[in-house]
Amino acid sequence: MKQTLLRSRIVHFRDDIAGPPDSALEYFEDGVIGFADGHITLLDDARRAAKQGLDLSTAEHRPDALISCGFIDAHVHAPQLAVMGSYGEKLLDWLQKYTFPAELRFADEEISRQNADFFIDALLAHGTTSAMVFTTSFAHSTEHLFEAAQRAGMRLIAGKVLMDCNAPDALLDTPERALRESAALIEKWHGRGRLGYAVTPRFAGTSSRAQLTVAGQLLRNYPDLWLQTHLSENRDEIAWTATLFPEASDYLNIYERYGLHGERSVYAHCIHLTASEQQRLTDAGAAVAFCPSSNLFLGSGLLELQQLRERGIPVALATDVGAGTGLCQLQSMGEAYKVCQLQDYALGAAEAFYMATLGAARALHLERYIGNLAPGKEADLLLLNGSRVPLLRERLRHCRNIREELFAYMSMGDERIIERAYVSGVAIGKSARPGYRQSSDQEWQFTPAAY
Ligand SMILES: [Zn+2]
Repeated sequence: MKQTLLRSRIVHFRDDIAGPPDSALEYFEDGVIGFADGHITLLDDARRAAKQGLDLSTAEHRPDALISCGFIDAHVHAPQLAVMGSYGEKLLDWLQKYTFPAELRFADEEISRQNADFFIDALLAHGTTSAMVFTTSFAHSTEHLFEAAQRAGMRLIAGKVLMDCNAPDALLDTPERALRESAALIEKWHGRGRLGYAVTPRFAGTSSRAQLTVAGQLLRNYPDLWLQTHLSENRDEIAWTATLFPEASDYLNIYERYGLHGERSVYAHCIHLTASEQQRLTDAGAAVAFCPSSNLFLGSGLLELQQLRERGIPVALATDVGAGTGLCQLQSMGEAYKVCQLQDYALGAAEAFYMATLGAARALHLERYIGNLAPGKEADLLLLNGSRVPLLRERLRHCRNIREELFAYMSMGDERIIERAYVSGVAIGKSARPGYRQSSDQEWQFTPAAY
């Protein structure tokens, strides 16, 4: 068993930042991390480890860099890269004008396959080593995404979109098809390697009662699946879904009625929840995917982060690409800060990074595998190098502590500062992983792994 050793500054979270201040964020000014066979074997202060007999001569020494846990994106749409940054619409028109046409292209299996590879490459280039992903209503698009994630060795949760009304005919499935195709994908992919399956009704507005019933049936048949969908994103959407389901007492109640509300449910957005809906999220232990870039871009509204956290609702950070304007979770953190500033809450860097690492892992019930750099966890980590962005480099010279440094990364950083990513202990690079394609983005050139 060959152990890779990296000696560098290292930061991660041992616990929820809402707990005792000293137990959460752990920072090593001169740390060492070791990993072998895809798992972390060692995390310690370098000098202490050396005193105890660790031979540091084989460690790559990078005092200039900062090692962080890989980022987790709790809500992102693989087929929507092509419509990122499209102009002028709010949610319901956005779906009709941009999202649905983009997803229609995935009827073509070759487009679907190519996009899956590109999407996985793009996630890794942005430092996202795990994600919870929507594909399209075409079952093959989920198949292709799982294949690409498996090739990359990523821990990834995804599901075929269930949608049988209020969208173009060619995108619609039926309750029967939803059941059959989802079950086949679950049997093949759920729990295979690092992959997991989420039952994925797009949202209440595009599924019939019969299809929501099928979604609930899948969750009952396979209790360790996840449920991912959208909830309470935009006021017009809320009013419209209320007309579709007049029997429901509120938006969340639609999902409750079909057995789609539980501790493995992850709801994107949750901006306009009532107090009762928030309470029911707390009671069920369901999680919220906070998508600040998307929420600002579509003008959907401002998530009440402080309130949700106070209620004990797990909140994970997410990009929601294509409505989100970038895949970089550093940018999501920066946008989250602005969303909170507009509500007189100064989001701290520790809380922001927590929501993209350990907090997200907990929200997605992946904490036993990923989320921090504790020995035993899977070795998904990033080598951050702020000096790759000149303005940021200048700012970093004046940072006095790790929190100021992290705040500068989230305010001014982007994927350029991600010098290298490790997935299951393997450095992402052309020679590190057979079949890996070179990015066309020349900014992103990982060092071939010689470790
Ligand atoms: Zn979304």
